[in-house]
Amino acid sequence: MPKTYPPSAKTAARAHITAENYGPMYEQSINDPDTFWGEHGKRVDWIKPYTKVKNTSFEPGKVDIKWFEDGTLNVSANCVDRHVETRGDQTAIIWEPDDPNTTESLHITYAELQVHVCKMANILQELGVGKGDRVVLYLPMIPEAAYAMLACARIGAIHSIVFAGFSADALGARINGSDAKVVVTADHAPRGGRSTPLKSNCDAALLHCKDSVKCLVVKRTGEQTTWTDRDYSYNDMRLEADDYQKPEEMNAEDPLFILYTSGSTGQPKGVVHSTGGYLVYASMTHQYTFDYHDGDIFWCTADVGWVTGHSYIVYGPLANGATTIMFEGVPTYPDAGRFWEVCAKHKVNQFYTAPTAIRALMGAGNEWVEKHDLSDLRLLGSVGEPINPEAWNWYNEVVGKGNCPIVDTFWQTETGGHMITPLPGATTLKPGAAQTPFFGVKPVVLDPQSGVEIHGNDVEGVLCISDSWPGQMRTVYGDHERFEKTYFGDYAGYYFSGDGCKRDEDGDYWVTGRVDDVINVSGHRMGTAEVESALVAHVAVAEAAVVGYPHDIKGQGIYAYVTLMNGQVPTPELRKELETWVRAEIGPIAKPDLIQWAPGLPKTRSGKIMRRILRKIAEDDFGSLGDTSTLADPSVVDDLIENRMNRN
Ligand code: ATP
Ligand code: MG
Repeated sequence: MPKTYPPSAKTAARAHITAENYGPMYEQSINDPDTFWGEHGKRVDWIKPYTKVKNTSFEPGKVDIKWFEDGTLNVSANCVDRHVETRGDQTAIIWEPDDPNTTESLHITYAELQVHVCKMANILQELGVGKGDRVVLYLPMIPEAAYAMLACARIGAIHSIVFAGFSADALGARINGSDAKVVVTADHAPRGGRSTPLKSNCDAALLHCKDSVKCLVVKRTGEQTTWTDRDYSYNDMRLEADDYQKPEEMNAEDPLFILYTSGSTGQPKGVVHSTGGYLVYASMTHQYTFDYHDGDIFWCTADVGWVTGHSYIVYGPLANGATTIMFEGVPTYPDAGRFWEVCAKHKVNQFYTAPTAIRALMGAGNEWVEKHDLSDLRLLGSVGEPINPEAWNWYNEVVGKGNCPIVDTFWQTETGGHMITPLPGATTLKPGAAQTPFFGVKPVVLDPQSGVEIHGNDVEGVLCISDSWPGQMRTVYGDHERFEKTYFGDYAGYYFSGDGCKRDEDGDYWVTGRVDDVINVSGHRMGTAEVESALVAHVAVAEAAVVGYPHDIKGQGIYAYVTLMNGQVPTPELRKELETWVRAEIGPIAKPDLIQWAPGLPKTRSGKIMRRILRKIAEDDFGSLGDTSTLADPSVVDDLIENRMNRN
């Protein structure tokens, strides 16, 4: 049995949710959602209180999701105004720049935030943006990104954020896709010591958009940019803009934002989130999963270009009156100690990042962590991919010094907030498992072929959710049919996550990876995550990605791409050793048939491995790699094709 970690007495004593109240609360959330959410919906301020709570259907052809449908509210009033009355001088946002040696960090109070948001709202209105209009944000991680999100929410406009690392083409497609009226961008985006010319990317994108689209430009570096008739200067306009703007009264079901998924499995989807249900869910998960308390300093290292940044940098924390950190940089700049330096500098209490970053920093060596005072850390979080036990243990021991519970949060762009996650005061942690459903979430395991629900414990299948929760996406922008087909088309009556999972003997959930990634070796179905975890557990291995490829005898063979730790040399002996290692760790069936040394792996810009591309390479089919527009570094793919293993 691998080691498990019950909540410490100290953690449990402070926690909002404990082993005692989790059970009854969860039962009520499932058996009587109207009462449960009717009560918890009050955590946000309503202009007109709701009288109806849940009105949802997963029925084929009639999928329809409404929560709090007759209530009205404003998200920016909830994230800003209501705190100005009670904690106006408290810091709302700490901004930490890319380069700490040339730029100071900023502290923005709730009172200041209100002025910034109102000015931005007035500027957008002046540019012709009104309720229901779409605004694309293509910005660095600067406070203006949060101002713009909240300004849209204030006037009832729908924002669609495009990660600043995306190309002009990807930006243009998203501007046209949502028929946006305005794009908000900046001159340049510094990141990791390099600078992306956002404004000129934007110019290139706008060549393919309607002439009427306006461009609002925020000054970040002050570098010269071209200027056309459609461009407006945020910094000039804000001098004249009024510093108050009344929040628009919005219906709970009015869309708050559109956001495209990361594109790991295919064409990105324009996910639409609501105003009321989303805010209730984002704020509640933020408070309970991270056991957030007043006065805590919360840091989520994501970019606002991803849903994690929406829910856990901006909407969740600010709805809860938290101090949230916005970090412009990358984990390894100016050096591999940057995350820990920022934690020490701002006395961070809760720290939330992705396995890809944890693995990279683990590879860089413990000395980078040990240099910094991390004594304020109380909790660590992980999101984006399954976290390998090896990385979990390192995070726990080296970063958390054994004192910080780790919450491995499973969720998706589509779910708005955490779905399956430990709760720090209630859950006995198991490294590598997401474990327990959040309130209102009813996970089920289905047989992938028959779609029949598998009951009991110690079972495996596909992960579906059998009823709606408030943070659920409402539709695919402009294409409700695609929404139904993508998420409800495979298993009638269920929301299908696309992921495989195990429910272990204790009833805890382990997400085993995307169903598309499951391999079938001689009749044994295997999640790629398991083989990858075994490889990463070897001292020489920094990262691994596993896919299936056609194999004459076994049906599918195991093809492993392996990135070695700094300083390790790839040799035939090491290859043999890794094969033996996996065989010993999991069993003979899991022994990789082919191991390719991979100096880098193809990843989305949010850091997830794109196994579908690796699969194509393993299958010798690289004529049709599919949509690669969300790939972070396309050159990685060429190298892998060049050096592929199963050349006939
Ligand atoms: P696309 O849907 O376009 O293929 P994507 O699924 O990568 O892209 P996201 O919504 O960013 O887009 O990611 C959600 C997915 O990330 C989940 O379906 C799951 O595969 C994975 N994931 C996220 N968190 C975890 C976690 N804690 N454990 C395991 N897997 C996770
Ligand atoms: Mg997905």
